[in-house]
Amino acid sequence: MSIKVKNISKIYGSQKALNNISFEINRPEIVGFLGPNGAGKSTMMKILTTYINPSEGEAEVNGYNVLTDTKNVQKSVGYLPEHNPLYLEQYVREYLSFNANVYNVDKSRVDEVINLTGLTPEAHKTIGQLSKGYRQRVGLANALLHNPEVLILDEPTTGLDPNQLIDIRNLIKSLGKDKTVFLSTHIMQEVEAMCDRVIIINKGEIVANKKLKEMRDGQEQIVIVEFDYRVEDAFLLKLPNAKSVKNTHDFIYEITFSTSEDMRSHVFDFAHDNQLKILQLNQKNASLESLFRELTA
Ligand code: ADP
Ligand code: MG
Repeated sequence: MSIKVKNISKIYGSQKALNNISFEINRPEIVGFLGPNGAGKSTMMKILTTYINPSEGEAEVNGYNVLTDTKNVQKSVGYLPEHNPLYLEQYVREYLSFNANVYNVDKSRVDEVINLTGLTPEAHKTIGQLSKGYRQRVGLANALLHNPEVLILDEPTTGLDPNQLIDIRNLIKSLGKDKTVFLSTHIMQEVEAMCDRVIIINKGEIVANKKLKEMRDGQEQIVIVEFDYRVEDAFLLKLPNAKSVKNTHDFIYEITFSTSEDMRSHVFDFAHDNQLKILQLNQKNASLESLFRELTA
């Protein structure tokens, strides 16, 4: 069990930031923690990395309890905080060597993580000379120094330009091949681009916990078709995965399918087999984006 969260709540003064949250991450996978600003993402991540204590509930990382086994939890996780504090006048290699010392990690590991995060061409520069994308790599390299099993990355792609975004996404995806990655974001597309699973949090509560594949499979799609002649609704319902039919205007029909597979070619074949002509054919997809908006509305 990589991460186990059971009935966690966190109250700051009078504000409940997390309300009875539970979830598990069982094996090396990339899980996105998605929610709007203020949802409680960073709070949950700070609890999992032992920076703050929960008000109630229990959490384990790599089998170690965050309250009673903090040292082992810290050994098990690499953490990239939301506002990663970096000393701009420090050189990349100097910064990583310093932290290797703090963590009691062999010096040879510094060059390994520089390599792993694609920092080699920039390693001789000061952190202040680096672009935001490369600074983020320094943060990732730092999180990887002690070769942890679990990576907890708080908004690792926020504020990057489109090219940097693609590079960091690819880097995280490659790290996720043999580590459990738990990353937060407020952008649905980031989850679609990187994650195997998404846990959606809103106002301190979990509103969805699903494999991306299941989310796509669970989706509906509407095909709008205009024929040159009237067709019985019941007849259209014979189409594979057809759930409902609405005759919106003259010979225009809105067919809802319970699949994300593009059903237009089926509608086309249907028309052909039944000597109907198609005057227009369009597909509307309920995207993950709209699902996220619905869930967090
Ligand atoms: P997210 O990372 O999803 O944007 P946070 O976990 O940072 O959300 O914050 C969740 C809620 O808790 C927010 O309403 C925030 O204002 C509040 N909060 C976070 N940290 C503190 C703190 N140290 N003291 C008081 N309230 C806080
Ligand atoms: Mg945050």
